[in-house]
Amino acid sequence: MSKRPINFGAGPSALPESVLNEALGGILDFKGTGIGVAEVSHRSKEFVSLLADLENNIRTQLDVPPTHKILFTQGGGTGQFSAVVLNMLARHRLLHPTLPDEQRVMDYVITGSWSKKAMDEANRLGGASVHIAADARTKSKDSKSTDGIPAHEDFDFSADPVLIHYCENETVDGVQFSNDEQSPTSFPFHLLPAGGLWPLVADYSSSFMSRKIPRLADHAVIFAGAQKNIGPSGLTILIVRQDCIVDVDAAAKLGAASVPISMAYKPIADAGSLYNTPSTLAIYIASLVLERSKKLGGIEYYEPVNRRKAQKVYAALKEGEEKGVYCGKVREGSQSWMNVVFDVLGDNADAKFVAGAEALGMVALKGHRSVGGIRISLYNAISEEDTDKVVSYMKDFVAQNSS
Ligand code: PLP
Repeated sequence: MSKRPINFGAGPSALPESVLNEALGGILDFKGTGIGVAEVSHRSKEFVSLLADLENNIRTQLDVPPTHKILFTQGGGTGQFSAVVLNMLARHRLLHPTLPDEQRVMDYVITGSWSKKAMDEANRLGGASVHIAADARTKSKDSKSTDGIPAHEDFDFSADPVLIHYCENETVDGVQFSNDEQSPTSFPFHLLPAGGLWPLVADYSSSFMSRKIPRLADHAVIFAGAQKNIGPSGLTILIVRQDCIVDVDAAAKLGAASVPISMAYKPIADAGSLYNTPSTLAIYIASLVLERSKKLGGIEYYEPVNRRKAQKVYAALKEGEEKGVYCGKVREGSQSWMNVVFDVLGDNADAKFVAGAEALGMVALKGHRSVGGIRISLYNAISEEDTDKVVSYMKDFVAQNSS
């Protein structure tokens, strides 16, 4: 029986223990080569076939159509905040070579800290103006605090933007778009400009592989760091529609900004994600996680499990709110399945909650340093049993602290 604590951290986060044990074997001897996966050449046939299996596993489990390539790179979500802007600017330049830069616009949907950071990077890089297509910040434009997805009528997309960026799950704020297209908190696909090949970019860093991606085929780029649901940090996964894999040097000749070669999608795609040395160990562990997930039934298995986990935690949160012990931060309908955020009311009460949980072997429950409070991350490696344990603790805490 494992003595490891239950790690509710937001990322890097828990990985299945069986995978970690299996990985130890490959660290010493990768596929019978006698050398470990961190030591083997990324061009060896064993590693190349592992990468192909990982890609295939993502493609089949998420139902990625042939119109889209799956690429592996490094630099995390932050790397993609820059890369996506540069690649999409190059695409826009090739589509509209003579359009003045002042008339190029990048749309950002602000639902929390990560989409705000992505927008800040777009502003920093320039090449087009930034338009806020919807804004969930409740206090001021400088505030980071949000409490839910904006109403559909408050979205205002540009006519022919370079890109439209949104963050599907805000890891810090606990705000997530609904995956039910009929819901008022779903992403408003029906409001996108007419024309079909939308430059729609989604940051799925903290919800990738946790449930189906609504309208996946309508996205230009979906990106995610591996370190939440599927592996260690150091691996970034991209799903890119083929018309967004463009010759950035041809675009630069027409006046677009030069794109660092390690960030340009085309060389990465042309080289089968082996343009330069990838993060071999992270890829290996991610491949074990996805093999395990395939055996369990893939997304069809995880989606209902993740839904139930979130429902149980939000039900306990509500009970605690009614007793005046907890205060949730996110409106119903916008509550993240992956990151549940709330405050514990009273002096030093958050710290008391965290310490009590630690004493019972549940760690990393402190909210992000920028917002404080509590954050319970419920990524794929957190089982229903682990969830039941934290839910029972939440209830006991209420019983002991309500008057
Ligand atoms: N986007 C989201 C939603 C995230 O949660 C994070 C990190 O936690 C990032 C982007 C940034 O990712 P990275 O730290 O891999 O650059």
